[in-house]
Amino acid sequence: MDISVVIPLFNEEESLPELATWIERVMTDNGFSYEVIFVDDGSTDRSMEVVRNLAAANPAIRAVSFSRNYGKSPALNVGFKRAQGDVVITMDADLQDSPDEIPELYRMIKEEGYDLVSGWKKKRYDPLSKTIPTKLFNATARKVSGIPNLHDFNCGLKAYRNAVVKHIEVYGDMHRYIPYLAKNAGYRKIGEKVVQHQARKYGHTKFGLDRFVNGYLDLATLWFQSKFGVKPMHIFGLFGSLMFILGFIAVLVVLILKIVSINSTTYHFYVTKSVYFYLSLAAMVMGLQFFLTGFIGELITRNSPERNNYLIAEEINHTPDSSK
Ligand code: UDP
Ligand code: MG
Repeated sequence: MDISVVIPLFNEEESLPELATWIERVMTDNGFSYEVIFVDDGSTDRSMEVVRNLAAANPAIRAVSFSRNYGKSPALNVGFKRAQGDVVITMDADLQDSPDEIPELYRMIKEEGYDLVSGWKKKRYDPLSKTIPTKLFNATARKVSGIPNLHDFNCGLKAYRNAVVKHIEVYGDMHRYIPYLAKNAGYRKIGEKVVQHQARKYGHTKFGLDRFVNGYLDLATLWFQSKFGVKPMHIFGLFGSLMFILGFIAVLVVLILKIVSINSTTYHFYVTKSVYFYLSLAAMVMGLQFFLTGFIGELITRNSPERNNYLIAEEINHTPDSSK
């Protein structure tokens, strides 16, 4: 099978028939063998009924439905697990992304050897309140992820080599950072294609302003995971040591000043009035806490089933037979 199209949807009943017909037309025009996987993320409108009818009319259409609204990332995750096509395309259900982009995305993966191609809505049809924060968000994501060539991390329209979607785990709200997840999994050939974007035709956006706060927090989490996920002691141990040394120096200062003042008749030193006393207390307690956090982090990673998951690119073995 050439292509799997994975479409997460949450209350998009009006758009679905048009979207399905459009995809079908593109696929038959280009002679692709394909499947469409609709993932209904707990819609409360008639979306699933519409999907059921579409699937009855076209055997290439499959569907999964959540019992409640879990979010776009879980929906993608479930779609990815089921995708069988060589190239997996994700697309929003609201007709903001155009299925006409599919053939070129497919070609970039197949012929130009990209692992992942992300759409770039260069000209957006969204309100300013969304486009300006999005620019800032993408600039930060470029820096933190070390993928300098992407302008639009969160574009719903993306294409992947099948292996990529099987080796990344999208959860929470991490769909905003799939290119970063792919890079961390070792897929480095990440490209971009300018795509057409349209104003939402039906319904309304499913994400509020909290997307920006959560987006930044998730980025911090990902950065931390990719840097220190399997070796938390490397960061907490460092902070802990620095703090502890600082506290230790402060204790020495307090001691020396006290000894000096004991032996002096003119100089009076009160330990509890000294800034060094409080500094030593605070720094040593914090240092110890950093250390303990590091140890606990190490114990957790030791128990993590992921700790020895390496993605092997190639392996050469000689069986006794082949060396003869
Ligand atoms: N979506 C989803 N679950 C959610 C929120 C959104 O499956 O909890 C789907 C939604 O139906 C659409 C896509 O994710 O197909 C993108 O959502 P939306 O168009 O609201 O986001 P925007 O384009 O405003 O960023
Ligand atoms: Mg949209």
